[in-house]
Amino acid sequence: MLSKLSEAEKEINSITIANKEELENFRLRFISRNGLLSKLFDELKNVSKDEKPVIGKKLNEVKKLAEEKYSSVKQSIEESGSKAEEIDLTLPGRNFSIGRQHILIQTLNEFVKIFREIGFKVTEGPELEEEFYNFDALNTPEHHPARDLQDTFYIQNKFDKTKKYVLRTHTSPVQVRTMLANKPPIRIICPGKVFRNETVTPKNYFMFHQVEGLYVDKNVSMRDLKGVISYFVKKFYGENTKTRFIPSFFPFTEPSAQLDITCFICEGKGCKTCKDTGWLEIGGCGMVHPNVFKAVGYDPEEYTGYAFGMGIERIAMMKYGIKDIRLFYQNDVRFLDQF
Ligand SMILES: [Zn+2]
Repeated sequence: MLSKLSEAEKEINSITIANKEELENFRLRFISRNGLLSKLFDELKNVSKDEKPVIGKKLNEVKKLAEEKYSSVKQSIEESGSKAEEIDLTLPGRNFSIGRQHILIQTLNEFVKIFREIGFKVTEGPELEEEFYNFDALNTPEHHPARDLQDTFYIQNKFDKTKKYVLRTHTSPVQVRTMLANKPPIRIICPGKVFRNETVTPKNYFMFHQVEGLYVDKNVSMRDLKGVISYFVKKFYGENTKTRFIPSFFPFTEPSAQLDITCFICEGKGCKTCKDTGWLEIGGCGMVHPNVFKAVGYDPEEYTGYAFGMGIERIAMMKYGIKDIRLFYQNDVRFLDQF
Protein backbone atom coordinates (compact mmCIF):
# COMPACT_ATOMS: atom_id res chain seq x y z
CA MET A 1 0.00 0.00 0.00
CA LEU A 2 2.70 2.45 0.97
CA SER A 3 4.73 1.57 -2.11
CA LYS A 4 1.68 2.16 -4.33
CA LEU A 5 1.26 5.54 -2.73
CA SER A 6 4.92 6.46 -3.22
CA GLU A 7 4.69 5.49 -6.87
CA ALA A 8 1.56 7.59 -7.35
CA GLU A 9 3.24 10.52 -5.58
CA LYS A 10 6.27 10.29 -7.88
CA GLU A 11 4.10 10.17 -10.97
CA ILE A 12 1.91 13.11 -9.92
CA ASN A 13 5.03 15.19 -9.32
CA SER A 14 6.69 14.34 -12.62
CA ILE A 15 3.73 14.21 -15.04
CA THR A 16 3.43 17.05 -17.59
CA ILE A 17 -0.04 18.15 -18.62
CA ALA A 18 -0.15 20.20 -21.84
CA ASN A 19 -3.84 20.61 -22.65
CA LYS A 20 -7.43 20.15 -21.51
CA GLU A 21 -7.56 16.58 -22.74
CA GLU A 22 -4.50 15.52 -20.77
CA LEU A 23 -5.84 17.31 -17.73
CA GLU A 24 -9.09 15.38 -17.94
CA ASN A 25 -7.13 12.10 -18.21
CA PHE A 26 -5.19 13.10 -15.10
CA ARG A 27 -8.43 13.80 -13.23
CA LEU A 28 -9.97 10.48 -14.25
CA ARG A 29 -6.87 8.55 -13.31
CA PHE A 30 -6.16 10.02 -9.88
CA ILE A 31 -8.96 12.18 -8.48
CA SER A 32 -12.31 10.94 -9.88
CA ARG A 33 -14.57 8.64 -7.92
CA ASN A 34 -13.24 5.64 -9.88
CA GLY A 35 -9.66 6.91 -9.82
CA LEU A 36 -6.63 5.44 -8.10
CA LEU A 37 -6.84 7.46 -4.90
CA SER A 38 -10.51 6.60 -4.28
CA LYS A 39 -9.63 2.94 -4.71
CA LEU A 40 -6.80 3.26 -2.20
CA PHE A 41 -9.18 4.94 0.25
CA ASP A 42 -11.48 1.93 -0.16
CA GLU A 43 -8.57 -0.41 0.57
CA LEU A 44 -7.76 1.47 3.76
CA LYS A 45 -10.32 -0.62 5.65
CA ASN A 46 -8.24 -3.75 4.99
CA VAL A 47 -5.12 -2.22 6.53
CA SER A 48 -4.09 -3.26 10.02
CA LYS A 49 -4.83 -0.96 12.93
CA ASP A 50 -1.13 -0.19 13.49
CA GLU A 51 -0.48 0.84 9.92
CA LYS A 52 -3.72 2.80 9.44
CA PRO A 53 -2.62 6.21 10.87
CA VAL A 54 0.59 6.27 8.79
CA ILE A 55 -1.01 5.11 5.55
CA GLY A 56 -4.08 7.30 6.11
CA LYS A 57 -1.90 10.36 6.58
CA LYS A 58 0.15 9.58 3.51
CA LEU A 59 -2.99 8.98 1.46
CA ASN A 60 -4.39 12.36 2.40
CA GLU A 61 -1.09 14.02 1.47
CA VAL A 62 -1.03 12.42 -1.97
CA LYS A 63 -4.71 13.29 -2.56
CA LYS A 64 -4.01 16.94 -1.68
CA LEU A 65 -0.99 16.95 -3.99
CA ALA A 66 -3.08 15.63 -6.91
CA GLU A 67 -5.89 18.14 -6.33
CA GLU A 68 -3.45 21.05 -6.12
CA LYS A 69 -1.72 20.01 -9.31
CA TYR A 70 -5.09 19.67 -11.05
CA SER A 71 -6.36 23.12 -10.06
CA SER A 72 -3.10 24.96 -10.81
CA VAL A 73 -2.76 23.35 -14.27
CA LYS A 74 -6.45 24.03 -14.95
CA GLN A 75 -6.02 27.70 -14.10
CA SER A 76 -2.97 28.17 -16.32
CA ILE A 77 -4.68 26.40 -19.25
CA GLU A 78 -7.74 28.66 -18.87
CA GLU A 79 -5.61 31.81 -18.73
CA SER A 80 -3.58 31.02 -21.81
CA GLY A 81 -6.77 29.88 -23.54
CA SER A 82 -8.54 33.17 -22.95
CA LYS A 83 -5.50 35.08 -24.24
CA ALA A 84 -5.54 33.03 -27.41
CA GLU A 85 -9.24 33.76 -27.89
CA GLU A 86 -8.69 37.53 -27.57
CA ILE A 87 -6.54 37.64 -30.67
CA ASP A 88 -8.71 36.56 -33.54
CA LEU A 89 -6.83 37.50 -36.69
CA THR A 90 -9.88 36.96 -38.87
CA LEU A 91 -11.85 39.78 -37.21
CA PRO A 92 -11.90 43.19 -38.93
CA GLY A 93 -9.82 45.85 -37.17
CA ARG A 94 -11.42 48.21 -34.68
CA ASN A 95 -11.76 51.86 -35.62
CA PHE A 96 -10.36 54.43 -33.27
CA SER A 97 -10.53 58.15 -33.84
CA ILE A 98 -7.79 60.67 -33.22
CA GLY A 99 -8.63 63.76 -31.18
CA ARG A 100 -8.30 67.19 -32.71
CA GLN A 101 -8.72 70.82 -31.82
CA HIS A 102 -12.25 72.21 -31.72
CA ILE A 103 -13.07 74.36 -34.72
CA LEU A 104 -13.44 77.44 -32.50
CA ILE A 105 -9.97 76.93 -31.03
CA GLN A 106 -8.54 76.41 -34.54
CA THR A 107 -10.12 79.69 -35.68
CA LEU A 108 -8.99 81.50 -32.55
CA ASN A 109 -5.40 80.23 -32.90
CA GLU A 110 -5.26 81.28 -36.55
CA PHE A 111 -6.48 84.73 -35.52
CA VAL A 112 -4.01 85.05 -32.63
CA LYS A 113 -1.07 83.87 -34.77
CA ILE A 114 -1.54 86.69 -37.30
CA PHE A 115 -1.55 89.39 -34.61
CA ARG A 116 1.37 87.89 -32.68
CA GLU A 117 3.48 88.06 -35.82
CA ILE A 118 3.04 91.84 -35.88
CA GLY A 119 3.90 92.38 -32.22
CA PHE A 120 0.63 91.96 -30.30
CA LYS A 121 0.87 90.19 -26.96
CA VAL A 122 -1.87 87.80 -25.81
CA THR A 123 -3.44 88.86 -22.50
CA GLU A 124 -6.24 87.19 -20.55
CA GLY A 125 -8.51 88.11 -17.65
CA PRO A 126 -11.33 86.77 -15.45
CA GLU A 127 -14.72 85.75 -16.85
CA LEU A 128 -16.43 86.73 -13.61
CA GLU A 129 -15.71 90.44 -13.65
CA GLU A 130 -16.29 93.46 -11.48
CA GLU A 131 -18.86 95.88 -12.88
CA PHE A 132 -16.23 98.60 -12.72
CA TYR A 133 -13.94 96.93 -15.29
CA ASN A 134 -16.79 95.70 -17.49
CA PHE A 135 -18.72 99.02 -17.62
CA ASP A 136 -17.65 102.03 -15.51
CA ALA A 137 -14.08 102.24 -16.73
CA LEU A 138 -15.28 101.79 -20.31
CA ASN A 139 -17.33 104.97 -20.39
CA THR A 140 -20.57 103.04 -20.02
CA PRO A 141 -22.63 105.14 -17.62
CA GLU A 142 -25.03 103.54 -15.20
CA HIS A 143 -28.18 103.98 -17.31
CA HIS A 144 -26.67 102.92 -20.63
CA PRO A 145 -28.82 100.30 -22.44
CA ALA A 146 -25.88 97.83 -22.49
CA ARG A 147 -26.23 97.60 -18.73
CA ASP A 148 -29.84 96.56 -18.97
CA LEU A 149 -30.61 93.36 -17.09
CA GLN A 150 -31.80 91.89 -20.40
CA ASP A 151 -28.24 91.77 -21.70
CA THR A 152 -26.05 91.25 -18.67
CA PHE A 153 -25.78 88.42 -16.17
CA TYR A 154 -25.41 90.06 -12.77
CA ILE A 155 -23.86 87.87 -10.08
CA GLN A 156 -24.57 88.21 -6.38
CA ASN A 157 -21.55 88.26 -4.13
CA LYS A 158 -22.62 87.37 -0.61
CA PHE A 159 -19.17 88.04 0.84
CA ASP A 160 -18.41 91.45 -0.64
CA LYS A 161 -21.46 93.69 -1.01
CA THR A 162 -19.36 96.78 -1.86
CA LYS A 163 -18.63 95.53 -5.40
CA LYS A 164 -21.02 94.42 -8.11
CA TYR A 165 -20.09 91.45 -10.27
CA VAL A 166 -21.12 90.42 -13.78
CA LEU A 167 -20.25 87.67 -16.23
CA ARG A 168 -18.18 89.82 -18.57
CA THR A 169 -20.16 90.94 -21.62
CA HIS A 170 -17.00 91.55 -23.67
CA THR A 171 -13.24 91.04 -23.30
CA SER A 172 -12.64 94.82 -23.01
CA PRO A 173 -12.23 94.68 -19.19
CA VAL A 174 -8.91 92.90 -19.88
CA GLN A 175 -7.80 96.07 -21.69
CA VAL A 176 -8.73 98.16 -18.64
CA ARG A 177 -6.83 95.83 -16.30
CA THR A 178 -3.79 95.92 -18.59
CA MET A 179 -3.78 99.72 -18.86
CA LEU A 180 -4.16 100.13 -15.07
CA ALA A 181 -1.14 97.88 -14.52
CA ASN A 182 1.13 99.16 -17.32
CA LYS A 183 2.29 102.35 -18.97
CA PRO A 184 2.08 102.82 -22.78
CA PRO A 185 3.04 101.63 -25.30
CA ILE A 186 0.51 98.81 -25.08
CA ARG A 187 -0.18 96.40 -27.88
CA ILE A 188 -2.36 93.45 -26.83
CA ILE A 189 -5.05 91.08 -28.01
CA CYS A 190 -7.47 89.55 -25.53
CA PRO A 191 -9.21 86.32 -26.56
CA GLY A 192 -11.84 84.69 -24.36
CA LYS A 193 -15.41 83.77 -23.47
CA VAL A 194 -18.07 86.43 -23.02
CA PHE A 195 -21.67 86.15 -21.82
CA ARG A 196 -24.94 87.82 -22.81
CA ASN A 197 -28.36 87.17 -21.42
CA GLU A 198 -29.90 86.24 -24.79
CA THR A 199 -32.51 83.74 -25.86
CA VAL A 200 -30.80 80.75 -27.46
CA THR A 201 -31.56 80.59 -31.20
CA PRO A 202 -29.63 79.35 -34.26
CA LYS A 203 -27.99 82.82 -34.40
CA ASN A 204 -27.61 83.66 -30.69
CA TYR A 205 -26.17 81.91 -27.66
CA PHE A 206 -25.73 83.09 -24.08
CA MET A 207 -21.96 82.59 -24.39
CA PHE A 208 -19.51 83.12 -27.24
CA HIS A 209 -15.84 83.87 -27.90
CA GLN A 210 -14.38 87.23 -28.70
CA VAL A 211 -10.97 88.60 -29.57
CA GLU A 212 -10.27 92.24 -28.88
CA GLY A 213 -7.20 94.24 -29.72
CA LEU A 214 -5.78 97.41 -28.20
CA TYR A 215 -2.90 99.62 -29.21
CA VAL A 216 -1.97 102.70 -27.16
CA ASP A 217 0.99 104.98 -27.77
CA LYS A 218 1.82 108.53 -28.76
CA ASN A 219 0.42 109.64 -32.15
CA VAL A 220 -1.66 106.55 -32.87
CA SER A 221 -4.27 107.41 -35.50
CA MET A 222 -7.24 105.88 -37.30
CA ARG A 223 -4.86 105.28 -40.20
CA ASP A 224 -2.86 102.83 -38.05
CA LEU A 225 -6.10 101.04 -37.19
CA LYS A 226 -7.06 100.71 -40.87
CA GLY A 227 -3.58 99.46 -41.73
CA VAL A 228 -3.58 96.72 -39.09
CA ILE A 229 -7.14 95.60 -39.84
CA SER A 230 -6.48 95.46 -43.60
CA TYR A 231 -3.32 93.44 -42.98
CA PHE A 232 -5.22 90.97 -40.78
CA VAL A 233 -8.13 90.64 -43.23
CA LYS A 234 -5.83 89.88 -46.19
CA LYS A 235 -3.93 87.27 -44.16
CA PHE A 236 -7.05 85.64 -42.76
CA TYR A 237 -9.50 85.79 -45.68
CA GLY A 238 -7.19 86.12 -48.68
CA GLU A 239 -5.07 88.71 -50.50
CA ASN A 240 -7.98 90.17 -52.53
CA THR A 241 -10.24 90.89 -49.56
CA LYS A 242 -11.08 94.58 -49.10
CA THR A 243 -12.03 96.35 -45.87
CA ARG A 244 -14.46 99.20 -45.23
CA PHE A 245 -15.34 101.16 -42.09
CA ILE A 246 -18.94 102.30 -41.56
CA PRO A 247 -19.68 104.92 -38.86
CA SER A 248 -21.07 103.28 -35.74
CA PHE A 249 -21.35 103.80 -31.99
CA PHE A 250 -19.64 102.21 -28.98
CA PRO A 251 -19.42 104.01 -25.64
CA PHE A 252 -15.70 103.27 -25.28
CA THR A 253 -14.50 104.48 -28.70
CA GLU A 254 -14.79 107.80 -30.57
CA PRO A 255 -15.02 107.76 -33.52
CA SER A 256 -16.40 104.20 -33.79
CA ALA A 257 -16.78 102.04 -36.87
CA GLN A 258 -18.44 98.85 -37.99
CA LEU A 259 -15.93 96.61 -39.71
CA ASP A 260 -16.94 95.15 -43.09
CA ILE A 261 -15.01 93.01 -45.57
CA THR A 262 -15.78 92.05 -49.16
CA CYS A 263 -17.61 88.71 -49.18
CA PHE A 264 -14.98 85.99 -49.49
CA ILE A 265 -17.47 83.60 -51.04
CA CYS A 266 -18.63 85.71 -54.03
CA GLU A 267 -15.67 88.14 -53.85
CA GLY A 268 -18.05 91.10 -53.71
CA LYS A 269 -20.38 90.13 -56.55
CA GLY A 270 -23.30 89.27 -54.27
CA CYS A 271 -24.51 85.91 -52.91
CA LYS A 272 -26.72 84.32 -50.25
CA THR A 273 -24.10 84.64 -47.47
CA CYS A 274 -23.68 88.40 -47.95
CA LYS A 275 -27.39 88.87 -48.79
CA ASP A 276 -26.42 90.17 -52.25
CA THR A 277 -24.59 93.19 -50.81
CA GLY A 278 -21.07 91.89 -51.53
CA TRP A 279 -20.05 92.85 -47.96
CA LEU A 280 -19.90 91.02 -44.62
CA GLU A 281 -19.78 92.55 -41.14
CA ILE A 282 -16.99 90.99 -39.06
CA GLY A 283 -16.71 93.27 -36.02
CA GLY A 284 -16.37 96.73 -34.55
CA CYS A 285 -13.52 99.14 -33.89
CA GLY A 286 -12.61 102.74 -33.14
CA MET A 287 -10.27 105.17 -31.41
CA VAL A 288 -10.17 104.76 -27.62
CA HIS A 289 -12.47 107.31 -25.93
CA PRO A 290 -10.65 109.94 -23.83
CA ASN A 291 -12.86 109.03 -20.85
CA VAL A 292 -11.46 105.48 -20.92
CA PHE A 293 -7.93 106.89 -20.71
CA LYS A 294 -8.96 109.14 -17.83
CA ALA A 295 -10.44 106.14 -15.96
CA VAL A 296 -7.10 104.30 -16.10
CA GLY A 297 -4.95 107.37 -15.36
CA TYR A 298 -3.57 108.04 -18.86
CA ASP A 299 -3.43 111.60 -20.17
CA PRO A 300 -5.66 111.73 -23.30
CA GLU A 301 -3.68 114.74 -24.51
CA GLU A 302 -0.50 112.67 -24.53
CA TYR A 303 -1.72 109.25 -25.65
CA THR A 304 -4.07 107.98 -28.31
CA GLY A 305 -5.01 104.44 -29.24
CA TYR A 306 -7.31 102.17 -31.16
CA ALA A 307 -9.36 99.13 -30.21
CA PHE A 308 -11.16 96.47 -32.22
CA GLY A 309 -13.23 93.39 -31.48
CA MET A 310 -14.49 90.38 -33.41
CA GLY A 311 -16.62 87.34 -32.56
CA ILE A 312 -14.94 84.01 -33.22
CA GLU A 313 -18.20 82.08 -33.71
CA ARG A 314 -19.39 84.59 -36.28
CA ILE A 315 -16.10 84.41 -38.17
CA ALA A 316 -16.11 80.60 -38.17
CA MET A 317 -19.79 80.42 -39.17
CA MET A 318 -19.19 82.65 -42.19
CA LYS A 319 -15.97 80.97 -43.19
CA TYR A 320 -17.31 77.38 -43.03
CA GLY A 321 -20.98 78.02 -43.86
CA ILE A 322 -22.23 76.88 -40.42
CA LYS A 323 -25.91 77.78 -40.05
CA ASP A 324 -26.52 77.08 -36.35
CA ILE A 325 -24.33 78.48 -33.54
CA ARG A 326 -25.49 75.75 -31.13
CA LEU A 327 -23.56 73.13 -33.11
CA PHE A 328 -20.31 74.50 -31.63
CA TYR A 329 -21.25 73.49 -28.10
CA GLN A 330 -23.02 70.15 -28.54
CA ASN A 331 -19.81 68.11 -28.92
CA ASP A 332 -21.36 66.01 -31.69
CA VAL A 333 -18.42 64.19 -33.27
CA ARG A 334 -20.22 64.09 -36.65
CA PHE A 335 -20.02 67.91 -36.67
CA LEU A 336 -16.56 68.29 -35.13
CA ASP A 337 -15.01 65.68 -37.46
CA GLN A 338 -15.63 67.91 -40.47
CA PHE A 339 -12.95 70.42 -39.53
ZN1 LIG B 1 -21.22 87.08 -51.11
